Amino acid sequence: MQASEVIRQVESSCRHRGLRLTRTRRRVLELVLAAEGPVKAYDLLDQLKQEFPKAAPPTVYRALDFLLEHHFIHRLESLNAFVSCLDPQHKHQGYFLICERCQSVEEVHFKVLDQALVEVAENHGFRPGRQILEIYGICRHCHD
Ligand SMILES: [Zn+2]
Ligand SMILES: [Zn+2]
Repeated sequence: MQASEVIRQVESSCRHRGLRLTRTRRRVLELVLAAEGPVKAYDLLDQLKQEFPKAAPPTVYRALDFLLEHHFIHRLESLNAFVSCLDPQHKHQGYFLICERCQSVEEVHFKVLDQALVEVAENHGFRPGRQILEIYGICRHCHD
C-alpha cells in the first residue's frame, strides 16, 4: 500500500474515532512510512529536528505512543524499532517475518493464530494483551 493511502486511512480513522492527528503525529507517521525498514526513535528524532528544531525525545515518544496505541504503526520488540502497518484501519495482531540478510520486514496476518495464542494464554489463566510474533529467517528474495 502506498504511503499516501495509509495516511488517508489513518486520517479517516482519526476522524471517525475523534482522535487528533496533530502535525507532529502525522509527520512521525510519514517518516515511519518513508523509512525503508524498521526505524529507531532517535533516527526519527534526528529527522524531525530538521523541520521542528525544538523537537525533543518526548515529542517523538509521545507521537509514537499515540500511533502505537491506535495501531497505526507497530513496534518490533527485538529490534526496538518501528514499522508502518499494512492495515491501519482495523485492529489486529501483527506477525512479522524478519530477514536476517537484507533486514526486510514483512507483516503477515493470520486469524487462526490470533485465536490459538489467546487460547494458549487462557489455558494458563493468563489474560493476553498485545501479541507480537517476530520470526527471524531468510526472505524469499535472499534465498533464491
Ligand atoms: Zn499491522
Ligand atoms: Zn532478505
